[in-house]
Amino acid sequence: MKELVLLLPNENTTVALGNAVAAAGDRGYVIYLYGDLGAGKTTFSRGFLQALGHQGHVKSPTYTLVEPYALQPRSVYHFDLYRLADPEELEFMGIRDYFHQDAICLVEWPQQGAGFLPDADIELHLSYDSEGRHARFVALSEYGENLLDNLKSL
Ligand code: ADP
Ligand code: MG
Repeated sequence: MKELVLLLPNENTTVALGNAVAAAGDRGYVIYLYGDLGAGKTTFSRGFLQALGHQGHVKSPTYTLVEPYALQPRSVYHFDLYRLADPEELEFMGIRDYFHQDAICLVEWPQQGAGFLPDADIELHLSYDSEGRHARFVALSEYGENLLDNLKSL
């Protein structure tokens, strides 16, 4: 499946979607998270991380750019590139080391890192929709399509 559209009527459903995507994967991959401030990118990431066993707070890595989570069986790196002044800074922070084969990378504001980020397996576009949110996934790799196929039962 190349595209999947869902309505998320409240915060809990955004968290549940993060849970479901986390449960659908079985290797390292890259998710780009698009959407305006407050669209739910970090809320989705919290659901994702908690489903993989992270307990406690998920802070927005707005100033640090990346927050690492050493989870089993694989690490998750949560990026927020909103405040990245120049995409070239990603080279200086050793971006390649984060995107190793076994890691899962969640990237908020990927457009800020254009040209210096590895390609995504799936994109999630979140937007405001009356009181809730609209979610649209786009698969960009064969593995991304598998992930969306595994989500069908939502
Ligand atoms: P972003 O990381 O995209 O800037 P956050 O996840 O930090 O956004 O904030 C999203 C805000 O919207 C939070 O206050 C959260 O409670 C709320 N929210 C998340 N998902 C939904 C939803 N499906 N419907 C309504 N409110 C939501
Ligand atoms: Mg955020």
